[in-house]
Amino acid sequence: MADFDHRVELRAPDISPYRLGNTGVPYATTLDSGRAGPHLLITALVHGNELCGAIALDFLFRADLQPVRGKLTLAFANVAAYAQFDPQRPTTSRFVDEDMNRLWNADLLDGDRHSVELERARVLRPLVEQADVLLDIHSMQDRCTPLMLCGALDKGRRLARELGFPAHIVADSGHDAGQRLRDYAGFADPRSRKTALLIECGQHWERASARVAIESTVRLLHQLQMVGPQFAADRLSPDRSQMLIEVTDAVTVNSDRFRFTRTYRSLEVIPRAGTLIATDAGREIRTQYDNCVLIMPSRRLARGQTAVRLGHYHTPPAMADAAD
Ligand SMILES: [Zn+2]
Repeated sequence: MADFDHRVELRAPDISPYRLGNTGVPYATTLDSGRAGPHLLITALVHGNELCGAIALDFLFRADLQPVRGKLTLAFANVAAYAQFDPQRPTTSRFVDEDMNRLWNADLLDGDRHSVELERARVLRPLVEQADVLLDIHSMQDRCTPLMLCGALDKGRRLARELGFPAHIVADSGHDAGQRLRDYAGFADPRSRKTALLIECGQHWERASARVAIESTVRLLHQLQMVGPQFAADRLSPDRSQMLIEVTDAVTVNSDRFRFTRTYRSLEVIPRAGTLIATDAGREIRTQYDNCVLIMPSRRLARGQTAVRLGHYHTPPAMADAAD
């Protein structure tokens, strides 16, 4: 199914009221409680056509949220791509020049290469470096149950468990094409106390993705004790059991002839080891173990990009509550 087969149920919010902000960085606002506590950064629109994060930040602004401890920074990331969002052609505004979520390493940010996304990443970088905790809000090409991407380290896993939402956690280390914001510097350093989560809230334009995005922000604010109990109590669904998927491989496209053997759904489980799932010129991509889970098979099969991630459930789903 092509992207354009998905209905655009969400409306892109007007973010122009947030352009000025108060941080010196356009489209970034810090709400400072004046009390000690963590600095939480919530980012939306790292991909310009992923509306749910913008809706969640707009919700927090409209709720007139004031943290009761620490600092909360709300940032709209790829505003240039978002400005090009067109519900008639919703796939075209993911980025302007390049994927903003593959640029997050110091060499690239310190380097002299130029693109719309690199310039914006350089402007956002000081805010990212100040943050103790990051929640980066995304959505997916296809309809799929929401996924919390907690990174490869225990600290991300722990925070995802503490949130108790959504039901699926994916432990992974990213893409060959470049480092994600959630893996930048201290977030991916086991010696650092900084922690980051990336949530994939659902299909880019489905209504439910906005609810998931909002709930993820409220839960994290609640978990960090940055909001009063009533703010969260009024807005949360009951906790649910969670399952953790351990990613073992990210399959990267090496040729112009990458083909999946059929259309796969995200979180589809392939029962038998050795099953051929894709070919890439002469290369065969087969599952390496039984009950291999396919995570977000992509339709952007360009050379150098991730085609799919492969993983396995950390514990049998029925026992997921009993183990970490
Ligand atoms: Zn995204």
